[in-house]
Parts: sequence; C-alpha cells; structure tokens
Amino acid sequence: MIVLKFGGTSVGNLERVRDAASIIAAQPSPRAAVVSAASGVTNMLLDAARLAASSDSAGMESVVGEIEAKHFAIIDGIESVDDRQFARNLVVGLHAELRNSLIEAVTAGRVSSALSDRIVSIGERSMSVMMAATLRSRGIPAVHVFANEVIATDDRHGNARPDRPRTRAQAEAVVRPHLDAGLTVVMTGFIGGAPDGAITTLGRGGSDYSATLLGAALMADEVQIWTDVPGVLTADPRQVETARVVPQVSFDEAQELAHFGAKVLHPRTIRPAVAVDIPVRILSTFAPQEPGTLVTRESVGSQLKAVTAMRNLQLITVDVPELEDLSGAAARVFGTLYEDRVEVVLVSQASSRRRMTYLIDGGAAGGCEPVLQRLRDSLQDFEATVNCTPDVAIVAAVGSGAAEQPKALLKLLAALSKAGVPVLASSQQTSNAALVAAIPAQFADAAVLAVHSEFIRSAENGRPRRRRRADLMGESVRVG
Ligand code: ADP
Ligand code: ASP
Ligand code: MG
Repeated sequence: MIVLKFGGTSVGNLERVRDAASIIAAQPSPRAAVVSAASGVTNMLLDAARLAASSDSAGMESVVGEIEAKHFAIIDGIESVDDRQFARNLVVGLHAELRNSLIEAVTAGRVSSALSDRIVSIGERSMSVMMAATLRSRGIPAVHVFANEVIATDDRHGNARPDRPRTRAQAEAVVRPHLDAGLTVVMTGFIGGAPDGAITTLGRGGSDYSATLLGAALMADEVQIWTDVPGVLTADPRQVETARVVPQVSFDEAQELAHFGAKVLHPRTIRPAVAVDIPVRILSTFAPQEPGTLVTRESVGSQLKAVTAMRNLQLITVDVPELEDLSGAAARVFGTLYEDRVEVVLVSQASSRRRMTYLIDGGAAGGCEPVLQRLRDSLQDFEATVNCTPDVAIVAAVGSGAAEQPKALLKLLAALSKAGVPVLASSQQTSNAALVAAIPAQFADAAVLAVHSEFIRSAENGRPRRRRRADLMGESVRVG
C-alpha cells in the first residue's frame, strides 16, 4: 500500500490538480492520497479569521470571495457533470460552514484556537472533495475522507499531538474498508480530531506529518511526499542557487534537517516512519520522472549532505552561583518553558558548569521580555542571572558520517569564521547526524552559503573531474 502526499503548490490550481490526479492514478492500488489546501488558501483563511475578529466584514468577505473563486476554478474543470455537481454541492456547503464560523468570530471579537482550527480546515476539506471528484471523473473509483475521523489527537489546537493507537484503530475502521473495496482514498492533510470531537491542526506544514501518520497506521509500503522541488536538496534552493538533489538520506539525517528548518519536511514527519520502518520518498510534481530523495534507516557516505538554517530563535543564558543548584535550576527552566509551551531547540552547559544555555523558539516565547520575566520569577530562590539574546539563528550541517568525525565541528567553525560569521554557541552531539552553530540571525544567509560552498559544493566539484577521467579512460578503451 502506498500513501502519496501533495503539498499546496502541487494542488494550487486546476492544472496542478489534474497533474496530481495523474500521478495518483499511475500508482498501484491500494493507495491513499493526502492533500493540503491549494497554495495560499490556509493563509487566506487565517486572514479572513483575523479580519472577522476585528469586525472588518468587507475585508473578510473579499478574502472569502477569493477562496471561493480559487475553489470554483478547480471544480469547473472536473470533466464529468455528475462529479462536478457533487463536488460543487459539498464545497458550497463547506464555504457556508466557513461563513458561519467567521460570524462566530465577529460576534466574539476574537478567534479561539479551536475556532481557528475549524476555519483553516476548510482548505484541506475542500481539496479532498475536489481531488476525489477529479479522480472519479476519470473513471477511478475514489472517496474523500476528513482526517478528523482518522488522525486522533489531543486538544492542543494549532499544534496538536497525535494519539497513535487511537489513530491506528480509526484508520482501520474508516480508511481500510475503502481500500479493501478498491477505492482510492483522498484524505485531508493537516487536520485531526480531539477527544471531544473538535477539529485540530498539526501545526503549519503539517500535511507531511498526516501522510506518515496514515502510512504508519496502515503499515504502508512507502510514503511519497510530492512537492515543488525534486527531493531533499543540499540547501534551500531559494537561498542557494547551486543546491543539488541528495539521492538518499537516513531517517536521522532527515529528522535533523526538518528539525533545523528545512521546510521541505514538517519537523515531525519522520517519526512515524521510523517507528515502523517505512521508506519515505520526496518527489516533484513538476518533474515526476525524477528519482527524488529516498529516506530510509541507513546512512550512506561520509560527507555532509545538506545545510539548513533555522531563524527566529532566542538564546537564554542562566548563570547559577552555586554548583549544586544546577540541576534544580535546570528543572525549573524546563518546567517553565514546558508550561508556556515554548520549544527548546538546543541546550548546552559551559565548562564552568554554572552557565546553561538554551536556544528556544522565539515565536512561541513572544520575545525576550515575557520569557525573562517568567524565568527570573521561577529561579528567584537560586539567585540565578538570566539573560536573553533575541534574533538568533541556527545553521546546521547534516550528514551522519561527517558529523561523527572528531574534527568536523572545527572545520564548520573555521568555515564560518572565514566568512566573518560570529558564533554564539555550537554543538556536535545531536545524535551525531548534525553539526550545529548558533549565530546572530542577520548572518544566517551568509552562513548557509559559506557552509554549502565549503563542504558540499567543493565535495561535488571533485566528482565531475573524476567522471571526466573515467570518460577519457572509456574513450581510450574504445579507441584501443
Ligand atoms: P509543500 O507545499 O509541497 O509542502 P513546502 O513549501 O512546504 O512544500 O516545502 C517545499 C519547499 O521547501 C521548497 O520549495 C524549498 O524552498 C524549501 N526547502 C527548504 N530547504 C530545503 C531543502 N534542503 N531541500 C528542498 N527544499 C527545501
Ligand atoms: N495547508 C497547511 C499549511 O499551509 C498544511 C500544509 O500545507 O502542510 O500550513
Ligand atoms: Mg510543506
């Protein structure tokens, strides 16, 4: 069984939806597709919610009109009349539900996180209906499924955590019978269902995660992430023009890349695949014949494979005068950050053993002031000194074989120093798949370029030369 996931750009308009449908149809059955909202729709839905909360009904209506136009342009292209009409009726119903939810936001003057999840779910729900109808109109039996009935989560709206055993049971009950009946299932990405039945979301970009959660629940043979780039590249191609496809990465390497900001995979995507050892392939809807990147348990090669940057972090330092207070203070720091749901990206402890350093998600922390206030309060009885540096980024170079080598971090720091990038903290231990340096955010682009050209391009530059020599030998053999 295969799970195929299509991101927003890959279902962004009628032509893209048609191409995605052809890719689905070309895969052997049983198969399930997981779809995101059409590109831009999730942001538009969030805009509409904000406008509703501030009682800007005209602004809200105009955004809803844009979403409707985008959806109807896709529906109008569905070839068979019956399937087109069926999809139109359902999507009109979803748009009506959207309007009702927005009226709730106008009345309340705010958007609760539960209401926000209900509002954004309209993008994925509409797309699943449109994709299933597109497949049926081509004679492929298909059915849409809303994932709030499959992906069971807790009630953390906006960033819900899945409940794997309940998801497995629901996938068997809801999805499996359709597959057994020979139908292609088209499930919504991004959304889940809380224990009280409310719709939740898995965090921005979460449809990748939905795909591996479904794949793991149904013990799929492979999960394919179809996107707008031809695989995992050596760097974000928007940042580094010379970035190239990496043919194979390990689960560990992919996890580190995603964790440290490579947007091609949602940070939590790989975990369900690791648990049941399902290969994940990253492929491009713009070049479906390309081999893409295969993610499996094994790591091959000893070179660094990719470099990524993660921005919008804050560096917290905690100095404790008494050595024996260190563990207690650390427990308080983690406890406070956990209560406030602030993610800790990296932790280190200096050699004096009285300074602890935490890199945290600046977005969740809401800037330095609130987090400083909270930590100073919670550390009062330790006489700790707490400081916070805003606008910090991480540059991470990923590759298990390379990151295990003792001198690797030294070489990374030398490359950064050569490019004039100051380093605030560094680490080599994270499961030995990544080398990491914390730097001021304004140096992130320069750091990625420097590390890419020092480690990845220069390693690649060696290859064509070797190939040319091989070609020459081949020629001489032929001539001889
Ligand atoms: P989708 O809508 O298909 O989920 P995303 O926009 O979420 O697509 O992710 C794909 C994007 O990830 C690419 O367009 C690219 O700019 C970005 N990206 C960042 N780092 C990498 C990387 N190392 N390899 C490939 N793409 C990357
Ligand atoms: N549509 C959602 C988002 O834009 C989920 C996804 O695309 O993966 O975040
Ligand atoms: Mg994505």
